[in-house]
Amino acid sequence: MARRTRIKDLFKSETEAQYTVMGWVRTFRNNQFIALNDGSCLANLQAVVDFENTDAALLKRITTGAAIKIDGKLVASQGKGQTVELIAQSIEILGDCDAEIYPLQPKKHSLEFLREIAHLRFRTGTFSAIFRIRHALTFGIHKFFNDRNFVNIHSPIVTGSDAEGAGEMFQVTTLDLNNIPRNEDGSINYKKDFFGKQTNLTVSGQLEAELGALALCDVYTFGPTFRAENSNTSRHLAEFWMIEPEVAFADLHDNMDLAEDMLKYLIQYVLDHCAEDLAFLEQRLIEEEKQKPLAERSEMSLIEKLSFCLEQPFERLTYTEAIEILKNSTPNKKGKFQFPIDKWGADLQSEHERYLVEKHFKKPVILTNYPKEIKAFYMRMDDDGKTVRAMDVLFPGIGEIIGGSQREERYDKLLKRMEEMHIPAEEMSWFLDTRRYGTVPHAGFGLGFERLVLFVTGMSNIRDVIPFPRFPGSAEF
Ligand code: ATP
Ligand code: MN
Repeated sequence: MARRTRIKDLFKSETEAQYTVMGWVRTFRNNQFIALNDGSCLANLQAVVDFENTDAALLKRITTGAAIKIDGKLVASQGKGQTVELIAQSIEILGDCDAEIYPLQPKKHSLEFLREIAHLRFRTGTFSAIFRIRHALTFGIHKFFNDRNFVNIHSPIVTGSDAEGAGEMFQVTTLDLNNIPRNEDGSINYKKDFFGKQTNLTVSGQLEAELGALALCDVYTFGPTFRAENSNTSRHLAEFWMIEPEVAFADLHDNMDLAEDMLKYLIQYVLDHCAEDLAFLEQRLIEEEKQKPLAERSEMSLIEKLSFCLEQPFERLTYTEAIEILKNSTPNKKGKFQFPIDKWGADLQSEHERYLVEKHFKKPVILTNYPKEIKAFYMRMDDDGKTVRAMDVLFPGIGEIIGGSQREERYDKLLKRMEEMHIPAEEMSWFLDTRRYGTVPHAGFGLGFERLVLFVTGMSNIRDVIPFPRFPGSAEF
């Protein structure tokens, strides 16, 4: 095809010169002004059509959604709203679009409606901005770790282990479900399955990352993870992406520092690289907030909220300290929490996490040293035998964005904990080997990528920050 200039580049190009652009028509006003978008940036290019000298049949085909190619001359714009415009000299229709039935009309559509046409929502300003920011964050994450000499590990997606020792996994099988091979005792004969054993989609790459860290020292994974939990919330997906750094010769404090540095770096990265998209999403949010009652409106705009997180050191406190705050909090005393906090040991719900962040401290919070009963088997036991060296990073509007810990590196203690939690040690001998052969203190965490994108874009439903969301009852596209 002919060489095209991206619209983003065109805005910075010399005027009084010839260019070719290709893209999709957003609107066509008065048979004269085409607003053209090619996804390279938020702004549309205005192309001016000489309608008196343009074939009427061609003009009719310039409809919202049509793909077109324009050759023309770039000039300084007379009109308001743009600095340059393209004087169209020839227009070619690349792909017609029947505007009568095209689902994306040039008007405001609800996010719920756009979710149903996720295959087309990339073509809206909001979603193109979200997915450009998602890309910038992906790139920023690799840059952050690469600059610090971390090695990216591709952990397996099909796994024979269950990292958390809990259910909620998707099974992977090629067995004929209408004719399942059985053992004599009636149980399923997995020896006949593809891998010769029962396998699942991974819920986390952490255990494999630990193996890497105990040789390469600083590693991270960035891959898809799957959870078959039936939680139809605005913060959970069945398929989501996770970033899991794992560091040898590191303790819980190093882990907290890494998490805080990384989050601040990424927020700054987006402020530096996605200014136009952020400004657009901020405006969108302001409009949306206007629909809410005054008391529920957020005190800060999107960009203020992002900058605010950069300026403050995150508040660090223990679970035990947090429970005291929550127990004595007004919403707890007034019975406003759905899950009242009455005693030490309670698992914290999103409502509690958000109270701490948004009402009490008014900044991101890192909670540490949780009761062992509510955390995974691999977290390092504290000397009191009651708590473990866990850390959760809590963010405004989101709740938990990161979960991590210093790992239990002592063989005997790890084995004991696995027995207590009924985790079959025989199947995990490869994991235990790291504690047998040159074990060292190490720590790591998991950042839910979509929760970060949610925070940075100011969107409120996680289904709107991944191109094709998977959740209970839905795996479209
Ligand atoms: P939550 O209590 O919010 O369900 P979790 O304790 O199950 O989180 P972890 O197992 O610690 O979460 O996973 C690490 C991170 O992955 C979380 O901090 C969160 O950001 C993200 N995460 C967990 N589950 C989901 C999910 N279903 N969809 C999207 N992100 C998730
Ligand atoms: Mn969960």
